[in-house]
Amino acid sequence: MEFGWSEEQSALREQAVRFGREMLDGGVLEDDLSGRFPAEKWRLLADWGYFGLAVPEELGGPGLDPMTGLLVTEGLAEGCQDFGLLFSASVQAWVVIGALLRFGTEDQLDRHLPGLADGTTVGALAITEPDCGSDALSLRTTAREVHGGWLLRGRKAYVTNAPIADLVLCFASSGATQLLGGMSAFLVETSREGVHRGSVEPKMGLRTSPLGELGLDDVFVPTGELLGKLGRGVAVFHDAMAWERTWLTALQVGTLQRQLDETRAYACERRAFGIPIAGHQSVAHRIVDMHLRLECGRLLVYRAAAAIAAGRPAGTEAALAKLWMSESALASSLDSLQVHGGNGYLSCSGVERQVRDAAGGQIYSGTSEMMRNLVADSLGLHARPTTVAVE
Ligand SMILES: Cc1cc2nc3c(=O)[nH]c(=O)nc-3n(C[C@H](O)[C@H](O)[C@H](O)COP(=O)(O)OP(=O)(O)OC[C@H]3O[C@@H](n4cnc5c(N)ncnc54)[C@H](O)[C@@H]3O)c2cc1C
Repeated sequence: MEFGWSEEQSALREQAVRFGREMLDGGVLEDDLSGRFPAEKWRLLADWGYFGLAVPEELGGPGLDPMTGLLVTEGLAEGCQDFGLLFSASVQAWVVIGALLRFGTEDQLDRHLPGLADGTTVGALAITEPDCGSDALSLRTTAREVHGGWLLRGRKAYVTNAPIADLVLCFASSGATQLLGGMSAFLVETSREGVHRGSVEPKMGLRTSPLGELGLDDVFVPTGELLGKLGRGVAVFHDAMAWERTWLTALQVGTLQRQLDETRAYACERRAFGIPIAGHQSVAHRIVDMHLRLECGRLLVYRAAAAIAAGRPAGTEAALAKLWMSESALASSLDSLQVHGGNGYLSCSGVERQVRDAAGGQIYSGTSEMMRNLVADSLGLHARPTTVAVE
């Protein structure tokens, strides 16, 4: 399908596919099996300029527009099989840097942007806690005002990049106002006294993306590290989630494109009962379903991204895109596994890894149930909304 991308946009997407395939694809099987974060590929992505794509020219970046950034993200995932690496990298590029660009003060941009954009600073976003995930606004981490800043106290859980992070965008209840929980957003350097980075948690998929806990033991955070307005962290949160749900979902578009191409090629080559298995109707129909899920998802992701890029409220569009693509990624990965037969079940095929990676999509960045709740709220279906709208 032709979306009317400019020549430059198409060329950048193609360049990303090639870069992913040629520079980032090696060693994925071993890294996944051992759960190793490939720091050398993080460096390659940084040198290639991925993290700083959205940084405007006046701040020393290329100032790539969001849609082109989305296409580059999609292209990387089409070329590179290491979804975990790209997941970690995209949190940095579109969630942490994005929030800093949209809410940061001049001083915060001066101090934190250069390191994040050149990849020497690793960023993370921490909202989830051991006792609250979906019900994010019930967070227990507190920020107590003291002379010159705040003392943060609490525990964050399941935080992508936490074990290696230098800077964490951390949400805490500042009690500044009871409105929307009085939540505020803080930039917390992990070198500060009282910050404990947990070890890497072994997990089902996305094993090359280091995830872990973050302990905050009366961590002093100076006044200048408040991101956005006091007590209005929910605005930062919703903005970050809309970007995360859309730009991280673009990774799934790229992944499902490669998966479709590979599954189709396998089905045309593998023979059973004297013909390629693609000639058996139930196999062909399975691949058609994969194709259909991808093309519907692509439209939803582009629609959400276009709304966000235009500065329109897009929480519902992002939720629809994330819901559809994450459920499609799991369904299509299982279909691909079935088409590959016993071969797909072996780790060396890479097919079973796609199933494990895809399962996480229905949980991170808000579960499928919470995405359905968001959409239900937008349709006026809940007497008492289970999600908070700030748009
Ligand atoms: C790979 C991965 C990466 C992650 N990265 C980050 C990160 O970088 N930063 C961060 O802060 N967090 C991160 N998370 C955490 C993630 O956002 C939470 O796990 C998620 O929001 C769900 O919260 P929970 O695990 O506490 O589940 P719970 O909230 O305990 O939910 C358990 C189950 O109950 C369902 N449920 C709960 N409430 C409702 C309701 N009202 N209606 C219907 N069903 C409901 C849920 O959908 C789910 O099925 C990550 C998680 C994963 C798996």
